Amino acid sequence: MRIQRRAPTAVPTPPLSVQQAQAPASIARAGRVSLEIPDTVRQQYFGRGQRRYRLPRFSNLRDISQSKTLGIDQAELKELVKTALIRLKKENRLKSKDSLDSLLDAIFPAPGSIDQSAFEAAVDTSDRTVIYMSVLDTNARIKDKDRPKLRSAMKWAIRIIRQAQASKTMLTRIFGGKQADAASNYKKAGDRLQAFVDSTATLDSSVNTDYNRDDAALYLGGWADFDDQVIHLEPDVAKVTDSKESVATLVHEAAHLADGAIEDHGYYPPSTGKDAFAGMAESRKLNNAAHYEEFVRRWLNTGAYSNDTEFTPGKAVSGAALTLEDDVRLATTEYFRHGWDAAVEVQFALVKHRKDLLASKETKFKTDLAQLKKISKVMGLSLHRQTAGNETVTQLDIVLAESIARVVSDTGTHSASVKLALTPRDKSEIKKASDRLIDDAIQSYGALLGDSKKDRTLTDWLVANYGKAFY
Ligand SMILES: [Zn+2]
Repeated sequence: MRIQRRAPTAVPTPPLSVQQAQAPASIARAGRVSLEIPDTVRQQYFGRGQRRYRLPRFSNLRDISQSKTLGIDQAELKELVKTALIRLKKENRLKSKDSLDSLLDAIFPAPGSIDQSAFEAAVDTSDRTVIYMSVLDTNARIKDKDRPKLRSAMKWAIRIIRQAQASKTMLTRIFGGKQADAASNYKKAGDRLQAFVDSTATLDSSVNTDYNRDDAALYLGGWADFDDQVIHLEPDVAKVTDSKESVATLVHEAAHLADGAIEDHGYYPPSTGKDAFAGMAESRKLNNAAHYEEFVRRWLNTGAYSNDTEFTPGKAVSGAALTLEDDVRLATTEYFRHGWDAAVEVQFALVKHRKDLLASKETKFKTDLAQLKKISKVMGLSLHRQTAGNETVTQLDIVLAESIARVVSDTGTHSASVKLALTPRDKSEIKKASDRLIDDAIQSYGALLGDSKKDRTLTDWLVANYGKAFY
């Protein structure tokens, strides 16, 4: 993707070679949640340098502004809206060419007043990529018209999986000594998909998608929950807009459903870097869903490696040993991947709480409120600013959280292009060198909270909370 940054030391960003990913939930999460960013999403949202931030609907802002109980004054609201507008402006998604300050002054013309026509002049309010419409569309059953095509993609995925089970040579190239275990996992994954093909009731209860475009806003291709045997697909994957990509994603997700040990240790195309992905330890790649895509992509000719490439632990594709720089960059991209993951979890939690509150269910929200206020403070949301006793989750909180997930992810991608000064030559220094690279990436990318120190505090907090459920 292309990075827009303001720091004078900026360098053009090369095509994405690093990062993104997502992880499995660990103990604290109810079931493992694994998030994916499929190649189509990557192309669509990273390839052309598009980044999408959103605003609440006008009615939601008006409700906040006019609320007698919420306690967010106009200056605070203006500041929060400004944050969203800055991020929208960075990607040229404002309708108006006016300066941010004049837009804000027009939207908030006087104390206690908010102007709809000025808001509509600033942004295209009918566009779901700009305006957050409704939490109620975020997790939806696959529409009837999309189901047949999705089922065809599943059948195709199953056929390739059955080939994989019988292809000892190819599986050995990919999984080495663990090829038999991999074949067994493929079998279970194929069986899971077969159940979705065989029963509409199972498909409807176990596979869902998102018609509110949250996935795109979060860079999210999908997730899988082993405990519940549920998968969520980004709408383009569910609609099969690119059949080969849908097939690869389905195999990836089904791998998560095959065995609870299969998590994410890097995405496809290699978010860890091509060499680190090829050089991953056998026990780790056996439990990395993206490695199950490799056979499929070789079969479909959509892979990053040639068909005869052998993955050898500790070695690059060329056969050379992985370098210290590979390790430092991997540690760095994993850091941002974990931070992105946690930010996505926060957004998920806020969406769930908002749905509850719209349905007048307050118990869970009240139980979690203290934690939510802490999160709000570190992420710069509105909850902690609200009057005690009258708090609610606004659309503003949701869009700010999703934009943080995006920026954290973008910063990780950006880190691949940040020069790495490696003075230490010894492996014990990986963490220190990675720490410096993280700081450099945050500082040169900017755009998170507008202050590098605060940004690092936020990303550290997110990474420390990686794998936790916030709902
Ligand atoms: Zn995954």
